Amino acid sequence: MMKRFDLSKLIRPNVRALRAYEAREIPCRVKLDANESPYSPLPPEKLFSGKDILCLLNRYPDPQAVELKKALARSLKLSEKNILFGNGSDELIYYLVTTLGGPVLFPVPTFVMYGVISQALSEKALPVPLDGNFDLDIKQMLAVIKNQKPKLIFLSSPNNPTGNCFSADRIMKIIETSKGIVVLDEAYAPFSSSRGFLPLLKDYPNLVVMRTLSKIGFASLRVGFMIAREELIQEVNKVRLPYNLNSLSQSIALEGIKNKKIVDARIRAITDERRRLFDGLSAIEGITAYPSEANFILFKVADPGKVCKGLLRRGILVKNMDGVIRGTIRVTVGNPDENALFIEVLKKLLRK
Ligand code: PMP
Repeated sequence: MMKRFDLSKLIRPNVRALRAYEAREIPCRVKLDANESPYSPLPPEKLFSGKDILCLLNRYPDPQAVELKKALARSLKLSEKNILFGNGSDELIYYLVTTLGGPVLFPVPTFVMYGVISQALSEKALPVPLDGNFDLDIKQMLAVIKNQKPKLIFLSSPNNPTGNCFSADRIMKIIETSKGIVVLDEAYAPFSSSRGFLPLLKDYPNLVVMRTLSKIGFASLRVGFMIAREELIQEVNKVRLPYNLNSLSQSIALEGIKNKKIVDARIRAITDERRRLFDGLSAIEGITAYPSEANFILFKVADPGKVCKGLLRRGILVKNMDGVIRGTIRVTVGNPDENALFIEVLKKLLRK
């Protein structure tokens, strides 16, 4: 007879209450649900540039990612001491919450992992709703900063899933007021016209900027990085797992940095397409598209569930955001053919 065993009694209640991040692989022809780039980032001959990485499979990766860090520091014109890599920026969010603890403040709706990771680590999350323009509700944010003294504040700008940047003056007010760390998550900054917050790092010791290669063509590598003052990098580095960035990722990411011109051209192609996709969406009766500074567009439609199903029947996968912002869908900017097909099918669905 099988031994009696109650696993649920062993699982910490905060973990039991969590739901696993939904990253289901739904078969589709046109994948516009996860804010990836539609383009392979570099021509195949540039990916390894002669280095026989496969000979190194028996060795652990460079634990400090020295070569990659040097190249990134050079390209950002900063010191290597200000950079820390994560297995995606997701991992860096984990490390930041592990290092500093809560309370953790963030506006909502935003990237879900700030809340999920806070809960996983039993830290108090302080979600504050955005205002009616999807901007920071600065009054509320400042009140929570004053009353709850968050140790960590996450601001995704451009914000996922709304696509807009928050007002720079409101972000500044938060950085100036907070005695905790303010993390500017700039995952989508390459697609934005705003210059980002990197130039302010030297003046604001509580500022952290987080970036990722995931949205600009390298999602499978899982390379994210944070830029911060050296003291904080050293503390966060203590909780980092020793070999968190594998050798293949280090090697290909290095080629990405060396071939910035090619990568940048792909980014421009996406922002050009974003304009066309936005115009296409806005021209459809019954749809309101929200302006975007990212590689996706949020739009409003009467019945998101029905529209998503209809699109998937034609092989097009988008993200239903109805549960987060009533009546909305998020679509990633694809290549010209993908976007044209998406618009064509959407028009037909709404005509029915
Ligand atoms: N920040 C934001 C705002 C995101 O939308 C995402 C990805 N959805 C991430 C971070 C995580 O990116 P990565 O692939 O680097 O873990």
